[in-house]
Amino acid sequence: MSAENITDERMSEFLDKIRFRQISFDIDGVNADTAKSAVNLYNLQFSDGKTVTDLDGFYAMRDWIFEKTNSRNLAIEMAIKIWNDENVQGYCPMVSGAWFLSNYLYLNGIKPHYITSRPFFTRDVTLDWFGRNMPFVDSGHIHVGNGGGLQGSYKTQTIKDLGVDIHFEDSIEHALDIVENTPALVVLVRQPWNLKFDVNHPRMVVSDYNPLVPKLFLAYADLVMSDI
Ligand SMILES: [Mg+2]
Repeated sequence: MSAENITDERMSEFLDKIRFRQISFDIDGVNADTAKSAVNLYNLQFSDGKTVTDLDGFYAMRDWIFEKTNSRNLAIEMAIKIWNDENVQGYCPMVSGAWFLSNYLYLNGIKPHYITSRPFFTRDVTLDWFGRNMPFVDSGHIHVGNGGGLQGSYKTQTIKDLGVDIHFEDSIEHALDIVENTPALVVLVRQPWNLKFDVNHPRMVVSDYNPLVPKLFLAYADLVMSDI
């Protein structure tokens, strides 16, 4: 299905269709462009010159640090520290098209949920980021993990608990966990770290990668043109 021939009529038909459905967004890689800030911090700490497009998998940064330190434990620990850094999470830019899409949904009376597997101790930083970047989002609609470490299962459980119908996600690992364990449809937001996976699931909407189009425009356009 192509998103090229999308019409205003199709857009408003679609809005009517999703008006009473639960929509949710992942935060990192879907709304908050944490990757950009995390790669900058990594470059500073390790005097390296990596770019976001070098992040070709969920654990890419851990592997870069392993190459530098030769310690698997240290690499995991330092990578997690960079991704959870207060400045990275609190002051990163927005993913292209993210503000526009959320604001568009809000203006049309649709209030999505924002669900992240970030550990719970990052909650205040996360709420502050929303306050600065998307102040129209109700803090009761922001759900931050409830323990330590990486918690894809928290995201899946929250999607189930909220009865989410459509979830926007950038992690292939989390996307697969969600379609396997909940009835939700997952819209994959294309990012360098999910490009090498060929996904084919009846409840996943997957766009082609196009760096020239704002990422959330592309994801939403493909959703609008899908048969849901
Ligand atoms: Mg993410």
